[in-house]
Amino acid sequence: MGASDIIRIKPKKSLGQNFLIDNNIARKIARDLHLSKDDVVLEIGAGRGALTKELIGHVRHILIVEIDYRLIEQLQQQFSSPSVTILHQDFLEIELADVQKRYKTKLRIVGNIPYHLTSPIIFKVFEEHSSVYDLTIMVQREVAQRIAAQPGTKEYGILSVFAWFYGVPRILFHVSPNCFFPKPKVTSTVMRILLHSTLPRTTDEALFRTIVRTVFGKRRKTLRNSLKYLSINGKIIEQAAASNSSLLDKRPEQLTVEQFIYLTREIGKILP
Ligand code: SAM
Repeated sequence: MGASDIIRIKPKKSLGQNFLIDNNIARKIARDLHLSKDDVVLEIGAGRGALTKELIGHVRHILIVEIDYRLIEQLQQQFSSPSVTILHQDFLEIELADVQKRYKTKLRIVGNIPYHLTSPIIFKVFEEHSSVYDLTIMVQREVAQRIAAQPGTKEYGILSVFAWFYGVPRILFHVSPNCFFPKPKVTSTVMRILLHSTLPRTTDEALFRTIVRTVFGKRRKTLRNSLKYLSINGKIIEQAAASNSSLLDKRPEQLTVEQFIYLTREIGKILP
């Protein structure tokens, strides 16, 4: 396959293919990763390798996960090295724990990801957080702002609560549509979520996630009303919030992550 074939591969909208064509941006992402020779990087959707080529040689191993078979052969030719593994797979189906065990280190996950998969990718990483060190991704600017949002703002929602529960999100820089081919309609943002090495031990993660999803599903209601959708009786809710009953008068966007953790613990103690 020659250079002309690379150009001939028609970007697929269904796979979110907006390829980075500005090398400065790829270099900036690589620089902000502060890579170490011991790192094992998993790159989601390497595409034509714009970011990959800035990472190679700086880390112990790179795993490239690319779903489009048309790009695989090209990536194999470009990055043939014992320190690179190319997987023709859907990232959402990768068992991160298996990869972590194989390399005996937490993964550094990076990617200029397809925007329609932003939430599934982030939620997957949170569910498998114990295998991941950090996640550095290019997303739509508005989504980055929602992920990093603080309580009391209109951007604050499920993504923000999860992001602050599992780690520390940080916006790095914005990227103009002109840096991609084809040009997306939106501005992009590179952001990083550094995952906590341990979570608060007494939190039931599944219950925490259910509570957060349930109350944000009824965003306009106070917690006293939205928590009823958990199918637990009102008395249990009042009992759980007994030492902080004013919490129940609040709407979900007014609660900090610590307050969600508190509620989860108290409800967890009472639930049969
Ligand atoms: N990283 C390249 C760049 O910066 O130019 C490509 C970025 S493009 C926005 C997203 C890439 O993710 C595409 O190459 C696409 O084929 C790939 N992709 C889409 N869905 C995927 C999935 N579920 N798993 C792995 N890769 C996927």
